[in-house]
This record gives sequence, C-alpha cells and structure tokens, in this order.
Amino acid sequence: MRKIDYHLHTRFSFDSEANPESYIQKAIKDGFDEICFTDHRDFDYPIDPFELDLSSYFPTMEALRDQYANQIKVKIGVEMGLDTDHIQEINDFVASAPFDFVIGSIHVIHHTEFYYGEYFKNKTKEEAHKEFFLETLKCVQTFDCFNILGHLDYIMRYGPYTDKSVDHQACQDIIDEILLTLIKKGKGIEVNTSGYKVNKTCGFPNFDIIKRYYELGGRIVTVGSDSHVVETVGSHVEDVLKAYQKIGFEDVTTFTKRKKDS
Ligand SMILES: [Zn+2]
Ligand SMILES: [Zn+2]
Repeated sequence: MRKIDYHLHTRFSFDSEANPESYIQKAIKDGFDEICFTDHRDFDYPIDPFELDLSSYFPTMEALRDQYANQIKVKIGVEMGLDTDHIQEINDFVASAPFDFVIGSIHVIHHTEFYYGEYFKNKTKEEAHKEFFLETLKCVQTFDCFNILGHLDYIMRYGPYTDKSVDHQACQDIIDEILLTLIKKGKGIEVNTSGYKVNKTCGFPNFDIIKRYYELGGRIVTVGSDSHVVETVGSHVEDVLKAYQKIGFEDVTTFTKRKKDS
C-alpha cells in the first residue's frame, strides 16, 4: 500500500499557522509516497472565518509541488464544509479552482457548530448524534463535488456529555445508508487519525464502519492525519494501512483534478 497523508491543514486555514514546506520535508523524511494539502473552506461557519484565499493558496502550493516533484507527490485539495443551507456557493467554490481532491466534511448544521457547542444545546447525546448522522446522509445525497467523506464520527470529540462515545448500533441504519450512498456515487471515505487521540486504537470513523463500507462494496479509501502542526503529519498512518490491508483493500486511492489516479 502506498503511504499517504491526505488531510493536512496549513497557515492557509484559519486554525493553523503551519508552514506547508515543513510538512513536505517531514513527509519525505518519513518515507511518504504522496501527501495532499486540504485547507479549510466553510461557508457561514459561526464565529470563525474559515475562508481560503485561492489567489495565494494555489501559487504557493504549486511552487512547492514542483520544487519537490522528484522526492514526493504533492496534491492540492480542500476540506470543504458540506452544508445543505449553502449548496450553490459550495458547488461554485469547488468548481472555481483546479483542486486535486475534495474532502466533504460536516462542521456546521443549520448555522450551529460543534466546537463551541451551540449545536448541542437542548439535545440529549442520542438526539445530537442521530441528527449528525441524518444530516451527514443528507449531505452525501445532496452533494457531488467531493471525493471522500471526512471524519465520520468526529461529533464524538465534542458535546457536553461525560461519555461522548457514539452508539453506532442505534444509528446503524442511517450509517448504512450513508455508506451505500457513497458507494453508489463512486465516493470514498477516510480514516482520520486525529481520532486516535480519543479512541486510542482507531480513528474517525472506527474500523467496523470501514469494514462495513468494504462489505457493502466500497473500495475507495484515503487516510489523513488532519494535522494543523508539523509534528502530527503522518501520525498513525501505518496503523490504518495495516488495518485496510486486513479488511481487504488493495491500496489507498489518490486523486488528481478530482479524478481517481489509475
Ligand atoms: Zn474537519
Ligand atoms: Zn481537517
């Protein structure tokens, strides 16, 4: 399996100050075949401005990609916040630039976000999680502009609950519908290794869900560290690749201009 890190944030994201070149150098040192920058863009994120300045993003990343071309493959992508209140803007934004790869992530539901916690107000954990999965389903049904679904399960990092864990069984029918929709539309799923901080032995989502995606016929997987600092670039990628192999995947999928590399 090729060693990739397909979820990286740099100083082009509001919540990172990292220098993209340092990511490339670390990835080369650690023997990676390919990485993809996926800085944030969310429309209407409450409180924080998750904008992406494409006029400096592309020239900077393209120059780095070319500079290091004989040592590592570097792709230029985006983590697009999917939000059914902003369908047109999101589709237009993705179409407006030559992204290699688009992660579709749910960060905002009806103008409320998870990080500061507005979304969880007046909801039990069960209600909050169910709505998250239902909204994720709606997004994967509605949008076509993404390649893979980002960090399913990431909701479990937030919320005012002592036990934040997700009861997957209670939402299994919705999760199956999400996976089947992804498969039908030729979309993939990532394991986001930032989840190891919470889950210890797996990322977001866990390997049961990845196995389910495989059993239902899905073959498109990526892995990403969701790094916002250089130290975490590539973390737990090898653990995920081993698990992918055990499940039956032959390789990870990589992308150029939003199409699968053959
Ligand atoms: Zn995200
Ligand atoms: Zn991210």
